[in-house]
Amino acid sequence: MPKLGVSACLLGEKVRYNGDGAEFRSLTRAWSHHLDLIGVCPEVGIGMGTPRPTIRLVNREGKIHLVNPKTDDDFTQDMLEYAELQSDALMKAEICGFVFKKDSPSCGLERVRVYRDDQPQAIRNGTGLFALVFTTLNPHIPVIEEGRLSDPLQAEHFLARVEFFSLWLEEGRGGWTADKLMRFHNTNKLFLLSRSPKAKRELGRLLAHAFEQGEHPDHAALQYMTAAQKSLNVLTKPGPIAHAMERVLGRVSSKLTRSERQEMLDVIHEYRRGLLPRSAPLTLLKHLVRRCDMETETNTRFISPTPLSLGLMAKV
Ligand code: SF4
Repeated sequence: MPKLGVSACLLGEKVRYNGDGAEFRSLTRAWSHHLDLIGVCPEVGIGMGTPRPTIRLVNREGKIHLVNPKTDDDFTQDMLEYAELQSDALMKAEICGFVFKKDSPSCGLERVRVYRDDQPQAIRNGTGLFALVFTTLNPHIPVIEEGRLSDPLQAEHFLARVEFFSLWLEEGRGGWTADKLMRFHNTNKLFLLSRSPKAKRELGRLLAHAFEQGEHPDHAALQYMTAAQKSLNVLTKPGPIAHAMERVLGRVSSKLTRSERQEMLDVIHEYRRGLLPRSAPLTLLKHLVRRCDMETETNTRFISPTPLSLGLMAKV
């Protein structure tokens, strides 16, 4: 089962400053059947108890500090050291993604309040200190805040990125070779085309360049995943997904009757116009691909990018 790092309070652990949890039920219920959830609470990790005083991000002469505003205790150094060690440990534990708690001065990914000592009002332009270190050290690992996961489109896309990362880890076990990398890219090319057409082209070029320069395949693989996840950070639209569906249809169309082909094209068109959910053309396509004996890895990676039982495909 792929491992997923999670801010511990989202798992319902009572680690928040007030002694409560902040359970995010999609994670603890549906997702926990498919992912091994590893809770991390950075504030408990640096030895702050529960309950504890609240801390905040403060901009002092251009540098961000993590402080208790009442006592002025500064936790910046402790958090930086902890975050570095924990980020390495999580990477070695082979997590395939991280879900962060929004708005937290330790865990928030974006728009976290940053104060100035001389001003009572905060500006929402910060990143929690733990999240900042983790994402800087591991730009190849997909991350998201739990707030975005309430949107099924965002949740499905994030899980697809986690699955993509997990397959990359599996494939690279025992070391990468140029052949393995090309095979991985080819297996995922329709998936990439559907999520980020630009990434599909650029990643192909990145690999060609890396091999020309004689780079070590392990290094090329890391560059590949870092660039892929950066591109996949943007939510896909129906257009590229519909285009990838048409590509699959093109591969099987010689084995279909004219009316079957037309029916499939009509359903894809209706999905593209927003009249049908994505699951409608994908279900039909899956059936046709199976019937035509074309269940190749590439087709399957695109048609079934996340486990069906998560129920997300019915909502996108
Ligand atoms: S947001 Fe992060 S630091 Fe705060 S309680 Fe949750 S896990 Fe701990």
